[in-house]
Amino acid sequence: MSLKNEKAIIVFSGGQDSTTCLFWALEQFKEVIAVTFDYGQRHSEELKVASDIAEDLNIEHHILDMTLLNQLAPNALTRDSIEVEEGKDGELPSTFVEGRNLLFFSFAAIAASQKGAKHIVTGVCETDYSGYPDCRDAFVKSLNVSLNLGIGKDFVIHTPLMWLDKKETWKLADDLGQLNYVRDYTLTCYHGIRGQGCGECPACKLRRAGLDQYRREKEREL
Ligand SMILES: [Zn+2]
Repeated sequence: MSLKNEKAIIVFSGGQDSTTCLFWALEQFKEVIAVTFDYGQRHSEELKVASDIAEDLNIEHHILDMTLLNQLAPNALTRDSIEVEEGKDGELPSTFVEGRNLLFFSFAAIAASQKGAKHIVTGVCETDYSGYPDCRDAFVKSLNVSLNLGIGKDFVIHTPLMWLDKKETWKLADDLGQLNYVRDYTLTCYHGIRGQGCGECPACKLRRAGLDQYRREKEREL
């Protein structure tokens, strides 16, 4: 079955992972529609970056209001008063937002149903998942089944990054011919700085380490 005649919805944040997935999806599907969730991110810059990239790539883009999530589950991504901290002793990091992917994928499925799209693409990844339970493959597969039962459709959730580490995600962007675009225009930094970011926060460190590692290995091969 060719996916070239099919439509997909992508859960799109404007970060490295979902932008790489967007380029992947554009190669796979006839049409890709991006949805971005506004859950009161500290940096509205994130929504701006997502809009800019969607516009630049000429993709239909919708921003959905999910600020209710911030009301229910305050976290370091939405509240300045909560520090970004890595989880210690098996605890989840302060950036974990309870129920985020559960809600996002459910709304993405409703959007997909409305738009006549069978496919849902997300950049979740179990490899670097910082212990987030809703980034696990088992969760995504289980939700896929629930959504199909609950909405009565045959959605297929695609997770091209599920088993990749950051280095391999850079490689995928490079294989798609988009490494420079992803490096320069996406936003991963917890402090809302595009491209290379602040260089200090956990997201920047992970992103940077992956890129350095990928470059070193590529140079060695040349
Ligand atoms: Zn940063």
